[in-house]
Amino acid sequence: MAQENLDEYKEMVLAGAKAIYEHGLVQFGEGNVSVRVKKVDEMFITPSQNDYAKMTLQDVVHIKFNGTQISQGKPTSTESKLHSIIYQARPKVNCVIHTHSPYAGMLSVALKEIPVIFEEMVIFLGGPVRLAKYAQSGTEELGKAVLEAMDDTNTCLLTNHAVVACGRDMEKVIKAATLVEKMAMIYWGALQIGHVETVPDDKIEKFKEMFKGLFSTAPRKKAE
Ligand SMILES: [Zn+2]
Repeated sequence: MAQENLDEYKEMVLAGAKAIYEHGLVQFGEGNVSVRVKKVDEMFITPSQNDYAKMTLQDVVHIKFNGTQISQGKPTSTESKLHSIIYQARPKVNCVIHTHSPYAGMLSVALKEIPVIFEEMVIFLGGPVRLAKYAQSGTEELGKAVLEAMDDTNTCLLTNHAVVACGRDMEKVIKAATLVEKMAMIYWGALQIGHVETVPDDKIEKFKEMFKGLFSTAPRKKAE
Protein backbone atom coordinates (compact mmCIF):
# COMPACT_ATOMS: atom_id res chain seq x y z
CA MET A 1 0.00 0.00 0.00
CA ALA A 2 1.28 3.48 -0.86
CA GLN A 3 2.79 5.40 2.04
CA GLU A 4 0.51 8.41 1.50
CA ASN A 5 -2.57 6.17 1.96
CA LEU A 6 -1.18 4.85 5.22
CA ASP A 7 -0.55 8.42 6.35
CA GLU A 8 -4.19 9.28 5.65
CA TYR A 9 -5.32 6.59 8.07
CA LYS A 10 -2.86 7.81 10.69
CA GLU A 11 -4.11 11.37 10.24
CA MET A 12 -7.70 10.22 10.79
CA VAL A 13 -6.79 8.44 14.03
CA LEU A 14 -4.81 11.45 15.23
CA ALA A 15 -7.66 13.86 14.38
CA GLY A 16 -10.19 11.64 16.19
CA ALA A 17 -7.94 11.30 19.24
CA LYS A 18 -7.32 15.05 19.46
CA ALA A 19 -11.06 15.74 19.06
CA ILE A 20 -12.18 13.48 21.92
CA TYR A 21 -9.39 14.86 24.10
CA GLU A 22 -10.40 18.45 23.36
CA HIS A 23 -14.05 17.59 24.08
CA GLY A 24 -13.03 16.30 27.53
CA LEU A 25 -14.11 12.73 26.79
CA VAL A 26 -10.71 11.20 27.67
CA GLN A 27 -7.60 11.99 29.68
CA PHE A 28 -4.06 10.58 29.52
CA GLY A 29 -4.06 6.80 29.09
CA GLU A 30 -7.83 6.44 28.66
CA GLY A 31 -9.94 5.35 25.73
CA ASN A 32 -8.90 4.64 22.16
CA VAL A 33 -9.63 5.53 18.55
CA SER A 34 -9.26 3.37 15.44
CA VAL A 35 -9.81 3.41 11.67
CA ARG A 36 -10.36 0.36 9.47
CA VAL A 37 -7.97 -0.15 6.54
CA LYS A 38 -10.02 -0.69 3.37
CA LYS A 39 -10.22 -4.22 1.95
CA VAL A 40 -7.87 -5.90 4.44
CA ASP A 41 -8.34 -7.15 8.00
CA GLU A 42 -6.23 -4.36 9.50
CA MET A 43 -6.69 -1.12 11.42
CA PHE A 44 -4.82 1.91 12.69
CA ILE A 45 -5.32 2.58 16.39
CA THR A 46 -4.09 4.78 19.24
CA PRO A 47 -1.23 3.31 21.31
CA SER A 48 -1.39 1.94 24.82
CA GLN A 49 -1.00 4.62 27.53
CA ASN A 50 -1.76 7.31 24.99
CA ASP A 51 -0.81 10.88 25.86
CA TYR A 52 -3.45 12.76 23.84
CA ALA A 53 -1.90 16.18 24.39
CA LYS A 54 1.48 15.17 22.94
CA MET A 55 0.31 12.53 20.47
CA THR A 56 1.78 12.69 16.93
CA LEU A 57 1.32 10.66 13.71
CA GLN A 58 4.32 8.49 14.68
CA ASP A 59 2.41 7.22 17.73
CA VAL A 60 -0.40 5.64 15.69
CA VAL A 61 -0.19 1.82 15.63
CA HIS A 62 -0.93 -0.39 12.60
CA ILE A 63 -2.23 -3.86 13.48
CA LYS A 64 -4.06 -6.81 11.97
CA PHE A 65 -7.47 -7.81 13.30
CA ASN A 66 -5.85 -10.94 14.75
CA GLY A 67 -3.68 -8.69 16.96
CA THR A 68 -0.38 -8.95 15.08
CA GLN A 69 1.33 -5.56 15.16
CA ILE A 70 2.59 -4.36 11.76
CA SER A 71 4.13 -1.01 12.76
CA GLN A 72 7.28 -0.59 14.82
CA GLY A 73 7.30 1.74 17.79
CA LYS A 74 4.59 2.06 20.42
CA PRO A 75 2.52 -0.96 21.49
CA THR A 76 -1.14 -1.09 20.51
CA SER A 77 -4.06 -0.05 22.70
CA THR A 78 -5.02 -2.81 25.12
CA GLU A 79 -8.61 -2.57 23.79
CA SER A 80 -7.73 -3.52 20.20
CA LYS A 81 -9.81 -6.74 20.47
CA LEU A 82 -12.93 -4.68 21.15
CA HIS A 83 -12.28 -2.69 17.95
CA SER A 84 -11.52 -5.71 15.76
CA ILE A 85 -14.64 -7.57 16.97
CA ILE A 86 -16.81 -4.59 15.97
CA TYR A 87 -15.14 -4.28 12.53
CA GLN A 88 -15.55 -7.98 11.85
CA ALA A 89 -19.23 -8.02 12.85
CA ARG A 90 -20.12 -4.79 11.04
CA PRO A 91 -18.65 -4.29 7.55
CA LYS A 92 -20.12 -0.76 7.37
CA VAL A 93 -18.10 0.44 10.37
CA ASN A 94 -14.95 2.35 9.41
CA CYS A 95 -14.14 4.01 12.75
CA VAL A 96 -14.50 3.10 16.42
CA ILE A 97 -14.08 5.33 19.48
CA HIS A 98 -14.00 4.30 23.12
CA THR A 99 -14.06 7.05 25.76
CA HIS A 100 -14.15 7.38 29.54
CA SER A 101 -16.40 10.44 29.52
CA PRO A 102 -17.59 11.31 33.04
CA TYR A 103 -21.41 11.51 32.89
CA ALA A 104 -21.66 8.40 30.77
CA GLY A 105 -19.22 6.73 33.16
CA MET A 106 -21.40 7.73 36.10
CA LEU A 107 -24.48 6.13 34.51
CA SER A 108 -22.45 3.01 33.66
CA VAL A 109 -21.62 2.62 37.36
CA ALA A 110 -25.23 3.28 38.41
CA LEU A 111 -26.29 0.69 35.78
CA LYS A 112 -28.58 3.15 34.01
CA GLU A 113 -29.24 3.00 30.28
CA ILE A 114 -30.10 6.27 28.55
CA PRO A 115 -33.65 6.20 27.14
CA VAL A 116 -34.62 8.30 24.12
CA ILE A 117 -34.87 11.75 25.72
CA PHE A 118 -34.01 13.81 22.59
CA GLU A 119 -35.03 13.05 19.00
CA GLU A 120 -31.40 13.48 17.91
CA MET A 121 -30.50 10.31 19.80
CA VAL A 122 -32.53 8.37 17.24
CA ILE A 123 -31.10 10.26 14.25
CA PHE A 124 -27.41 10.10 15.20
CA LEU A 125 -27.18 7.07 17.52
CA GLY A 126 -30.05 4.87 16.37
CA GLY A 127 -32.06 4.99 19.62
CA PRO A 128 -31.39 4.54 23.34
CA VAL A 129 -27.88 4.06 24.70
CA ARG A 130 -28.02 0.58 26.21
CA LEU A 131 -25.71 -0.91 28.80
CA ALA A 132 -23.36 -3.77 27.94
CA LYS A 133 -22.95 -6.30 30.72
CA TYR A 134 -19.70 -6.16 32.65
CA ALA A 135 -16.67 -7.72 31.03
CA GLN A 136 -13.01 -7.09 31.84
CA SER A 137 -11.08 -4.59 29.68
CA GLY A 138 -9.06 -6.07 26.86
CA THR A 139 -11.11 -9.27 26.55
CA GLU A 140 -13.13 -10.71 23.67
CA GLU A 141 -16.07 -10.95 26.09
CA LEU A 142 -16.16 -7.17 26.23
CA GLY A 143 -16.45 -6.97 22.44
CA LYS A 144 -19.26 -9.53 22.41
CA ALA A 145 -21.12 -7.73 25.20
CA VAL A 146 -20.86 -4.48 23.20
CA LEU A 147 -22.30 -6.01 20.02
CA GLU A 148 -25.19 -7.46 22.01
CA ALA A 149 -25.95 -4.16 23.76
CA MET A 150 -25.66 -2.02 20.61
CA ASP A 151 -28.09 -4.30 18.75
CA ASP A 152 -28.99 -2.13 15.71
CA THR A 153 -27.67 1.16 17.19
CA ASN A 154 -24.12 2.59 16.99
CA THR A 155 -23.30 3.18 20.66
CA CYS A 156 -23.54 1.67 24.12
CA LEU A 157 -22.32 2.09 27.66
CA LEU A 158 -19.93 -0.45 29.20
CA THR A 159 -20.77 -1.37 32.79
CA ASN A 160 -18.28 0.29 35.19
CA HIS A 161 -16.44 1.84 32.27
CA ALA A 162 -18.22 4.30 29.89
CA VAL A 163 -18.73 4.60 26.15
CA VAL A 164 -18.21 2.78 22.85
CA ALA A 165 -19.27 4.36 19.54
CA CYS A 166 -18.86 3.12 15.99
CA GLY A 167 -19.77 4.62 12.65
CA ARG A 168 -19.24 5.03 8.94
CA ASP A 169 -16.59 7.76 9.24
CA MET A 170 -14.60 9.63 11.88
CA GLU A 171 -16.79 12.74 11.91
CA LYS A 172 -19.89 10.67 12.61
CA VAL A 173 -18.22 8.68 15.39
CA ILE A 174 -16.89 11.81 17.10
CA LYS A 175 -20.43 13.20 16.90
CA ALA A 176 -21.84 9.99 18.42
CA ALA A 177 -19.31 9.81 21.28
CA THR A 178 -19.87 13.49 22.10
CA LEU A 179 -23.65 13.19 21.91
CA VAL A 180 -23.69 10.18 24.25
CA GLU A 181 -21.88 12.27 26.87
CA LYS A 182 -24.26 15.22 26.41
CA MET A 183 -27.30 12.96 26.69
CA ALA A 184 -25.80 11.29 29.78
CA MET A 185 -25.36 14.71 31.39
CA ILE A 186 -28.92 15.81 30.58
CA TYR A 187 -30.39 12.49 31.70
CA TRP A 188 -28.43 12.62 34.96
CA GLY A 189 -29.65 16.18 35.57
CA ALA A 190 -33.27 15.25 34.89
CA LEU A 191 -32.97 12.36 37.34
CA GLN A 192 -31.78 14.82 40.00
CA ILE A 193 -34.75 17.10 39.35
CA GLY A 194 -36.93 14.04 39.70
CA HIS A 195 -38.76 13.48 36.43
CA VAL A 196 -37.65 12.09 33.07
CA GLU A 197 -39.92 12.57 30.07
CA THR A 198 -38.95 10.37 27.12
CA VAL A 199 -39.78 11.05 23.46
CA PRO A 200 -43.02 9.18 22.61
CA ASP A 201 -42.37 5.90 20.77
CA ASP A 202 -44.83 6.75 18.00
CA LYS A 203 -42.96 9.97 17.20
CA ILE A 204 -39.56 8.44 16.40
CA GLU A 205 -40.21 6.41 13.21
CA LYS A 206 -39.27 9.31 10.90
CA PHE A 207 -35.96 9.72 12.73
CA LYS A 208 -35.25 5.99 12.57
CA GLU A 209 -35.44 6.24 8.78
CA MET A 210 -32.95 9.14 8.81
CA PHE A 211 -30.61 7.06 10.96
CA LYS A 212 -30.89 4.08 8.60
CA GLY A 213 -30.09 6.23 5.57
CA LEU A 214 -27.20 8.21 6.99
CA PHE A 215 -25.67 6.55 10.03
CA SER A 216 -26.73 2.95 10.61
CA THR A 217 -23.93 0.34 10.61
CA ALA A 218 -25.62 -2.85 11.83
CA PRO A 219 -26.04 -5.60 9.25
CA ARG A 220 -29.66 -6.15 8.25
CA LYS A 221 -31.35 -8.76 10.37
CA LYS A 222 -32.41 -11.90 8.56
CA ALA A 223 -36.19 -12.32 8.28
CA GLU A 224 -37.42 -14.58 11.02
ZN1 LIG B 1 -11.60 1.97 28.65
